[in-house]
Amino acid sequence: MNYLGIDFGTSGARAIAIDNTAQVTAETRCQYPSQEPDAESWRQTLWTLIDQLPISIRQKIKAIAIDGTSATVLLCDRNHIPLTHPLLYNDARSGLPTMVPPTSPAHSATSSLAKALWWFNNLPSQTLAKAHYLVHQADWLSNLLHGKPGISDYNNALKLGYDPQTLSYPDWLTALEIRPWLPEVIAPGALISPIQPDVAQRFGIPTQCMIKTGTTDSIAAFLASGASGQGDAVTSLGSTLVLKLLSPIAINHAPSGIYSHRLGKQWLVGGASNTGGAVLSHYFSDLELQSLSNLIDTTQSSGLDYYPLLTTGERFPINDPQLTPKLTPRPDNPVRFLHGLLENMSAIEALGYQKLTALGSGEVKRVYTAGGGAQNQTWQSLRSQALGIPLVPSRHTEAAYGTACLAAGLVPFINH
Ligand code: ADP
Repeated sequence: MNYLGIDFGTSGARAIAIDNTAQVTAETRCQYPSQEPDAESWRQTLWTLIDQLPISIRQKIKAIAIDGTSATVLLCDRNHIPLTHPLLYNDARSGLPTMVPPTSPAHSATSSLAKALWWFNNLPSQTLAKAHYLVHQADWLSNLLHGKPGISDYNNALKLGYDPQTLSYPDWLTALEIRPWLPEVIAPGALISPIQPDVAQRFGIPTQCMIKTGTTDSIAAFLASGASGQGDAVTSLGSTLVLKLLSPIAINHAPSGIYSHRLGKQWLVGGASNTGGAVLSHYFSDLELQSLSNLIDTTQSSGLDYYPLLTTGERFPINDPQLTPKLTPRPDNPVRFLHGLLENMSAIEALGYQKLTALGSGEVKRVYTAGGGAQNQTWQSLRSQALGIPLVPSRHTEAAYGTACLAAGLVPFINH
């Protein structure tokens, strides 16, 4: 039997099939045909990804789940046809939704809820009259497979304002005029329904294949890492620095930019800093990052006190939109400058984990690493000194692998 995980990420999409033992049996990838955000190009991408799988794999698919970028949403009519172009995860046109309590993850200019409110306030009344479903990217794609609109999971719905602790929409949210657009929310990896017969027939997939709820792309990447129990954490060294830790309790702490996703009986607590690879890429090419890192003496301190940001504003572990970048003094020697950047980014990561533990997450036992910076052994060594926690390599870094595990029911802390 095979289980299919499909990831719609920021730059492209990927599908990974695994067997009952979590071994990868097939993998396909596809770039979006259009640079502009467009649901039709997502649909084409989904069909291409499935089409590219060998027929021998397709014939044995038992379950499928899809993850998408968090807070990428569409407004659809009652037939699930988009009434608008999608608004992407980083679209901040709406500004901060002031009626949302500051402790809610929906209290952000880029939240799904902020986008829904923007549509409500800006679309022509003829369009609004047809609006029926507010749909996350993963849910829109998943619906193409199962045909039961209006269902989401509590990871995608977090930035809509859904409360994963009470498993309900809070009263302040249900009092809003967009209330009728909100989806029914269930757990990630839960059964929705069998695949639609016409889709099954078109791709040679068994008609008993079950479509399950997915999650967000960053949670899927966490699931892919191999992190499996309380105290397991994943640091993503991508364009930004993102920390996630499995904790027995939820932590929501606005001053530190910490929020929590539910994962079965556990909580994924953490936050995203604006420091990270985007700052490194501003000063160095990938080749320079490799060659200069090799020349850093990690037994010595750089002696530089930085807060590496590209622009004003930080989210985590200090939530301060006015925090200014600190990148001076800049030494003439690029090796020392890079040393200072990596050392101070490691200190920000360490502060992040310290804040999580101080707020009750429990001990951090081991840290998996993902993202473009994971290959940098010098950074690894600096992080190891700053954190004092064992660093372990990720089992997989592809979000599609984590979503395949969700489809297969192989995530130990989510049982259905
Ligand atoms: P994302 O998906 O968040 O855009 P990736 O996980 O693809 O990012 O990682 C890209 C980042 O990795 C770039 O910003 C780059 O600075 C960083 N990177 C690439 N190679 C290295 C390296 N050798 N050392 C440190 N950082 C690196």
